[in-house]
Amino acid sequence: MKKEMKICALFGDPVAQSLSPEMHNAAFKDKGLNYIYVASRVKPASLQAAVEGTRAIGIHGLNITIPHKVSVIPLLDELDEVSKQIGAVNTVVNSGGILKGYNTDAAGFTKALTDKNIDPQGKQAVVLGAGGASMAVCYALVKTGASVIIMNRLAHMKEASRLALKLGDFSHNPIQATALNPQNLEKCLETADILVNATSVGMHPAKNQSLVPEKLLRPEMIVFDLVYNPLQTKLLADAAFLGAQTINGLEMLVWQGALAFELWTGLAPPVGIMRKVAINAFEEKGTVLTSRKISGQQKIKTSIALIGFMGSGKTTVARILAGKTGKRLVELDRLIEINAGCTIPEIFSSRGETAFRELEIEAVKEVSSAANQVISCGGGVVLNKINIDRLKEHAIVVYLEVKPDEIMSRMQGQPVNKPVLRDPGDYDEVKELISFREPFYKAHADIVIESSSLTAEETARQIIARLENHAM
Ligand code: NAP
Repeated sequence: MKKEMKICALFGDPVAQSLSPEMHNAAFKDKGLNYIYVASRVKPASLQAAVEGTRAIGIHGLNITIPHKVSVIPLLDELDEVSKQIGAVNTVVNSGGILKGYNTDAAGFTKALTDKNIDPQGKQAVVLGAGGASMAVCYALVKTGASVIIMNRLAHMKEASRLALKLGDFSHNPIQATALNPQNLEKCLETADILVNATSVGMHPAKNQSLVPEKLLRPEMIVFDLVYNPLQTKLLADAAFLGAQTINGLEMLVWQGALAFELWTGLAPPVGIMRKVAINAFEEKGTVLTSRKISGQQKIKTSIALIGFMGSGKTTVARILAGKTGKRLVELDRLIEINAGCTIPEIFSSRGETAFRELEIEAVKEVSSAANQVISCGGGVVLNKINIDRLKEHAIVVYLEVKPDEIMSRMQGQPVNKPVLRDPGDYDEVKELISFREPFYKAHADIVIESSSLTAEETARQIIARLENHAM
């Protein structure tokens, strides 16, 4: 540890799966700060000693997580207005021995919405669950002008009613609490603009569950799931399938961390880096979790790679999928052109197909190390096994199967820039190339979508539905 280094710590129990150390240490590094972030498992009986130790050894900042967010309050010297109103603290700043508590969960939730240009003002929100996370979310929603219905299981309805009553002190917007049962859910969702799942339903290992039947979701809804393990819950998959806008729990996690970073350092947080590192760390830690609990030792994959013949719709489907899942879009052929500084037909004519395939191998290597992407691959990517092996490290491979007649009709009227074909209008040549490549596509695909008679939107929906059966 370097001299004069500032220490930030996470107090919670458990903390082993926390993504915060990776996220904050990457942010400190990016800003050139001499800070370090460590996760400390603090049992409830040791919380007081840990807080006193923070003062004694001059720990600069704290994150507080379950189960200490409420019990830490009497141990602090000051609270900001938000943490006072919410009654929970997740961030502490130590200024010369004075410990001040903050709550960045609520603002983190709001930032996750506004980052996607969603303004809750005037909207009707339904929030499932009435625990700690729900409190922060409901507070954020009423403070930004939404009206809120909190739904909780009947056995604990008084939690929801207490929450609604408390929020009523901060807002003139309607806030109701109601029992979470099929009739109420149907009625409340009829007019909802925003649906938030603030329960643990959908979380690993019970990841194939959702509290909301598909038929109650609508394409114009915004659906936010606070669960981030897995990144794509059943609720989000169902909502995306219908064309609704979806936001996963990692967004709130990243933003609450970014706002804590700002409080400790006074600097603008490098949110993009924090998100990227959190996704990668999630993938690694998620893999450990999964392999311990699933006998098949499946690795969690967060990317989708689309393969198929030219004209099969990979680029359009990839764009739609990236929009629906919030994953980064990568067009492999475009990346090759950028790296080569010229177009693909120019590469073929000046350097030949072998040189193109080498550039393709390099481009696949470049993209396959990152997570959470939708990768639209060139038609011949499957010809080199090393490409598939690299893609499969992080991605579920999806083959868009399209019949030769349909390929011909889709290619008609498109610009002729298909250098692997001598004559793109020659049906026999197209058919021959398809029959040569098809065994490669089928052998390497995790999912095959017969999309000859589907629109790009329908194809994307089918992919999202089929991904449900994979560890994502
Ligand atoms: P919590 O205080 O334990 O509250 C859990 C809530 O979920 C309670 O209202 C509980 O209802 C409800 N619930 C649990 N199982 C249910 C079921 N089968 N059916 C209906 N309701 C059920 O937990 P929390 O801290 O609020 O966390 C809730 C979720 O949010 C967790 O998945 C957590 O990982 C996630 N979270 C995410 C972030 C983020 O940054 N993305 C931050 C905080 C939390 P009862 O009262 O009836 O038990």
